[in-house]
Amino acid sequence: MKHTWTVLIMVLSLVACDQASNKTEQMPEKTNGKKTAQQTFINIGTGGVTGVYYPTGGAICKMVNKKSPNIKCTVEATAASVYNVNALLADKMDLGIAQSDVGYKAMKGQEPFKEKATNLKSIMSIYPESLTLVARKDSGIKSFADLKGKKVNIGNPGSGTRRTVETLFNACDLKLDALSFQGQLKAAEMPDALRDGKLDAYFYVVGHPTANIKDVATSTDVAVIPLDMPCIDDLIKKESYFVKTIVPGGLYKGNDEDIKSFGFKATLLASDQLSNDVAYSIIEAILEDFENFKTLHPAYAKLTKDSVFEGLSLPLHPGVQMYLDKQK
Ligand code: GLU
Repeated sequence: MKHTWTVLIMVLSLVACDQASNKTEQMPEKTNGKKTAQQTFINIGTGGVTGVYYPTGGAICKMVNKKSPNIKCTVEATAASVYNVNALLADKMDLGIAQSDVGYKAMKGQEPFKEKATNLKSIMSIYPESLTLVARKDSGIKSFADLKGKKVNIGNPGSGTRRTVETLFNACDLKLDALSFQGQLKAAEMPDALRDGKLDAYFYVVGHPTANIKDVATSTDVAVIPLDMPCIDDLIKKESYFVKTIVPGGLYKGNDEDIKSFGFKATLLASDQLSNDVAYSIIEAILEDFENFKTLHPAYAKLTKDSVFEGLSLPLHPGVQMYLDKQK
């Protein structure tokens, strides 16, 4: 299992690198998914390379490029959800992966977004993500309350993690100032910083398993800490996109038990500038070869053709609706 996973990451990274080089050579600027001479170029904004968004962008592009040779889909590593939504709003990206809580805030025009996003659409929801707190075992952190006075990474600017962490601290009456250090490292930098003792813990909103936590757990004694307090129950009651989740045991060295947390879905979003044809082709490429898609990352293991339309915050893209209507 471990080896399959490593090989999978390498393959997806190679696909992504290959695609990225296509982009430099052939895609000088964004095309809104519209056709140039013979090819339609689309790019997907993802997250840090050790997370799950990045290989997910690679998996989606793989399906689309295979099914529709006239489309060239490429992936970009980015700061993640908030960055991706802003890039879509500014028409600088065709597609982006984002947490559904971030999509919801964009739709409502809530912080960090200045106004209601009317031009954002959903293509699909992908897999569940959990707010995950990873701590060094020797830090003494066993619960959320133990974070007081500790060095904790709260998420890089532009990440959805940062937003969800702020929501958690507000809901659970702990000030971010109570931390001795509020780290803003990028996701890919967190494992080394934890290993080197520059951090006692880090938050990461992510699907499981992720290479990021596998990596740190092999060289450092770390624990995934439960996030299961009454203030979280209240938060879930108040904000409809949050649900209780489990970080499954057995995925990371030294973490054999299921751990309770909360989360939502990772969603694939597009601006409404993306043509109906392209949106149709993307959902068709994934759903018509769905069993194959599911093999591309272990975080997709429990997906169904219905679950990929659950937990969306933003309206479906008309091209996806056209596909669904045709199936009736
Ligand atoms: N959910 C994270 C964020 O938006 C990114 C997770 C990932 O890259 O897999 O901050």
